Amino acid sequence: MNHPGKPHVLVLGGNFAGLTTARFIREQCGEDINITVIDRKPYLLFIPNIPIEVFANRNPQNTMHMPIEHILHDDRIDFIQAEVQTIDVESSLVDYVSMERPGSPIEHIKYDYLVVALGARLAYDKIEGFGEYGFTLSDTYHGNRLRHYLHGGGYKGGPIVIGSSRFHQGTKGKPDWLPNAMAACEGPPLEIALSLGAWLEDHAQGGPDKITLFTPGQVIAEDAGEEIVTKFLAMAGSMGYHYVNKTEDIKRLTADGIEFANGKSLEAEIKIVLPDWQPHSFMKDLPIVDEKGFVITDLTMRNPDYPRIFAAGDAAALTVPKLGTLGDMQARIVALQIAKDLGKVSAEKADQPFRPEVICMGDMGRDKAFYIHSDVWYGGKTSIMKTGHMIFALKLAFKEMYYRTGGKPSRWGLPLTELLTEHLL
Ligand SMILES: Cc1cc2nc3c(=O)[nH]c(=O)nc-3n(C[C@H](O)[C@H](O)[C@H](O)COP(=O)(O)OP(=O)(O)OC[C@H]3O[C@@H](n4cnc5c(N)ncnc54)[C@H](O)[C@@H]3O)c2cc1C
Repeated sequence: MNHPGKPHVLVLGGNFAGLTTARFIREQCGEDINITVIDRKPYLLFIPNIPIEVFANRNPQNTMHMPIEHILHDDRIDFIQAEVQTIDVESSLVDYVSMERPGSPIEHIKYDYLVVALGARLAYDKIEGFGEYGFTLSDTYHGNRLRHYLHGGGYKGGPIVIGSSRFHQGTKGKPDWLPNAMAACEGPPLEIALSLGAWLEDHAQGGPDKITLFTPGQVIAEDAGEEIVTKFLAMAGSMGYHYVNKTEDIKRLTADGIEFANGKSLEAEIKIVLPDWQPHSFMKDLPIVDEKGFVITDLTMRNPDYPRIFAAGDAAALTVPKLGTLGDMQARIVALQIAKDLGKVSAEKADQPFRPEVICMGDMGRDKAFYIHSDVWYGGKTSIMKTGHMIFALKLAFKEMYYRTGGKPSRWGLPLTELLTEHLL
């Protein structure tokens, strides 16, 4: 229960970025602060491992939903299951509607500090034909659709395409070192292609040469850096995968294939796509966002015009590509900043700026995975890619650690992953 007289931190969103931020704020600020989390659902959706569950024919609804209410309760954080309607940044009020039963009125909640961790709207509804002909793996509902199709005998052995829609990144407030991405997050298409290729072979349905990877950009997963992408494409090519770049965007999906904005098309029975990551519609006109609707922040994740408003995770303009690992780094920064304001930590400790690194562990099927750690896209020099069974074990272990710690891992699979993968494997 929140106590009168203490500053109130309101965290919007309770998935990766929101849950972690709220829990690190409690850790850094102790009991001198009230914290409330609002999310429309009372559980965390563990998105990165959905493909593993689907290809193993396990229902991801059973394994990828982690209830969050008791975790927050144990940290003395209030939880409201509600739909956020809007943010009034002048009067520091958030409008929400309770989701527990239909018919609830709009209510307002006041904040002293606000953390926007509402992720993005995955705009499948903007892809013509997706509802009828599209598949994806970004949530358990769609994961189950593909699972039923593959494991239920629906697959007729036809060609498969896997790739992304064009992402629309904002430029207002963007630092010079942050490039423009053509796709929001291209780790998933890579891992889905590799694991589906292995699945086809294991189920006597063909193999990688049935699969074409496509990207709207010059190269797929450009944020991993040229060296890694070149290695990756050579590996995938030698396995038989096909690859098409510069599609610009998806025009439409049809029963027989996919049409691209560049005028080309591919025949395909299965179309697995990742959409444009768009901001939620109510965000678009707020004074804290860029021209697309992502929250503008400085490198301490504060909005420059409203310094008591922070963003973390996919909702933040600085989060490119849209990776949970980046949200995790930002969550720790936000917690330290609020603790600094309360006099709990020094400026020296808190003011370490956000320095993005792409860190990604992707399933390859047959209990193998790839590991990518790179910052060259942002101007750095780290460029590491490894593959192996141990990395798959680490990917599974990370999920276990995440559940066991209630969304407060020691770091996103690090330093364990870094130590094992980069130095020992
Ligand atoms: C298939 C796939 C695999 C991936 N694999 C990886 C990986 O291996 N590594 C990695 O780092 N990243 C990976 N990602 C990206 C990662 O899933 C996202 O970056 C991460 O989920 C972002 O976390 P977030 O908390 O910012 O947003 P989200 O996870 O989208 O959470 C936003 C939360 O806000 C809530 N919300 C939204 N709007 C409202 C509203 N109006 N009112 C109330 N609540 C609301 C939602 O219910 C949700 O709980 C993957 C993504 C996909 C699709």
